[in-house]
Amino acid sequence: MNRQRFPASAAAPAERSPNSVTPEPTRRSQSAPVTRPTDMHELVVNLHMHTTYSDGHGSHADLAQAAMQAGLDAILVTDHNVYVSGVEGYFKDNGKRVLVLVGEEIHDPTRQPQKNHLLVFNAGRELAGYASHPQGLIDQVRQSDGLSFIAHPIDLALPSFGEDNISWVDWQVQGYTGIELWNGFSELKTVIKSKLHALFYAFYPEFIPHGPHPETLHIWDELTTAGQRVVAVGGSDAHAQPKHLGPIHRTVFPYEYHFRSVNTHLWVQNPLTSDLHTDRKAIMDALQEGHAFIGLDLFQSTRGFRFLAHGKESIAWMGDQILLRGGVTFQIHLPLPAEVHLICNGRHVKTWRGRDNLTYITTEPGVYRVEAYLRARGLRRGWIFSNPIYVHG
Ligand SMILES: [Zn+2]
Ligand SMILES: [Zn+2]
Repeated sequence: MNRQRFPASAAAPAERSPNSVTPEPTRRSQSAPVTRPTDMHELVVNLHMHTTYSDGHGSHADLAQAAMQAGLDAILVTDHNVYVSGVEGYFKDNGKRVLVLVGEEIHDPTRQPQKNHLLVFNAGRELAGYASHPQGLIDQVRQSDGLSFIAHPIDLALPSFGEDNISWVDWQVQGYTGIELWNGFSELKTVIKSKLHALFYAFYPEFIPHGPHPETLHIWDELTTAGQRVVAVGGSDAHAQPKHLGPIHRTVFPYEYHFRSVNTHLWVQNPLTSDLHTDRKAIMDALQEGHAFIGLDLFQSTRGFRFLAHGKESIAWMGDQILLRGGVTFQIHLPLPAEVHLICNGRHVKTWRGRDNLTYITTEPGVYRVEAYLRARGLRRGWIFSNPIYVHG
């Protein structure tokens, strides 16, 4: 990969669109390291999905129903270039409930080839009109107190189905919240080589997920190692589209399949309250802070994964920063034994095969994160990808 695509933070600002403003430093980068409690509440959310307002095949109520079946706490719906207001809130059925929040997936439909899809949350207004200038769009999201995530940063072409490569290309942008490290639907394009392949995976989708695209992981490590704080989330990009191949008709990847697959797990200080405003803020704060990991919940639930750092006077969770002050001890806990890797600045540090009390003491500053793998249906699968803990000297 060409490293020139990712300018260091000291590089001159990229050319700005007429709509752009100079990005303010983020709330996180202004704040000093803070100490966290040793335990927080875990929420399982699924984000990036489409309804009949764009090219999905279900209503918000259909998605909520599927999310309740999958046992999710919340879903974040992102139709293409349309902000759907008035549908946020708790959906309830049969003693279950799920919080439905609405964002938007914004891109310029007139751009050829099609690139640069951005997920926007919490902006509370329509911003699709800014799609032609990615930096101007990101600035508008920030001005609206919203969050922005680069969607499917690497998204390959699928010539046998007429699908183009729709990767992100404008990497000079600044001020976005993070990236969609793992996109469940995009991953399909990495395994399908023909229509026959597609038919197999339509009936056996559980053979698709293996992990984030390696180049996306590499881009993320380069950005964070260069000093940028970039929150990683996992998205499903669920559409539940019916497909036809000769006499065979099938809904490929129903919503519930996606909602049991690549999820984003968040850490919040308090349990959800049932109040839309309070709970939306808790979820957006956790996304902004990167108090999150990506879990493939299809085979074994990833609930219960922990990655903490203990310093001299403080405790950091994934997404936080911590001061080295002589040494920091990382503590990793998994719900099941797995193959676990600690990574610093994109480089491998240590591997365990285990579950509990996995510890590592570092005396080096750096950007530390965890990956875990397990075997399912005979294949090695990426299972957990944590956000980093940023250790400062
Ligand atoms: Zn997209
Ligand atoms: Zn999408």
